[in-house]
Amino acid sequence: MARVEDSPWAIPVAQIASRAGQSKPIDADFPAPSGIGDSIVGIKEGEPVHVSGQFDSIVDGLIFTGRLVAPFVSECTRCLKPIDEDWPVDVTVFFPYESGQDKANGKGGKSKKDDEIDIIAGEDESEDTYPLLENGAFADIEAMIRDTLVESLPLQPLCRPDCRGLCSQCGADLNEDPDHHHDVTDIRFAGLAGLKAQLEAEQNGEQAE
Ligand SMILES: [Zn+2]
Ligand SMILES: [Zn+2]
Repeated sequence: MARVEDSPWAIPVAQIASRAGQSKPIDADFPAPSGIGDSIVGIKEGEPVHVSGQFDSIVDGLIFTGRLVAPFVSECTRCLKPIDEDWPVDVTVFFPYESGQDKANGKGGKSKKDDEIDIIAGEDESEDTYPLLENGAFADIEAMIRDTLVESLPLQPLCRPDCRGLCSQCGADLNEDPDHHHDVTDIRFAGLAGLKAQLEAEQNGEQAE
């Protein structure tokens, strides 16, 4: 099995995990873990995710507060233009000293801990907890990066909020030509219009009788 310190996502935190009230700043790039979105909307595995912020030690664990900035790749759901932008996400998560075993087994005490985190972090979304490894010597941020970015990905990315999309008939980009339209009635609609006129005529004929 690979050693913890060889993981690109293992951050040495032993020096602050020893007692409460200390902090360690982070400002570095980490490789994007696999499984963040897909090839159409997502963040490519191995691309640099910039992590900035700090770990603060409290009595029962470490809190990480900071920001992730990842190279987000997708395409606009309206005009299909490729989107390639830096995607910033703020994050506050907890790395408890206790292993995640209690939580996994569904034992009591979890809710109490979550209450404490909420008070300290002052946020509702701080219930995510992540593992410390080697008796608190390393914080493993792989899952933190993955979960945070996955949760933040837009379901329907747009190149800009007011993107006009494409013409449904010819596919022209309506952003480039806002006045674009077609005067010629679609042959299918012409057929329907004829049918409608025929039905109306029949109806009128019935009513006249
Ligand atoms: Zn667009
Ligand atoms: Zn058109």
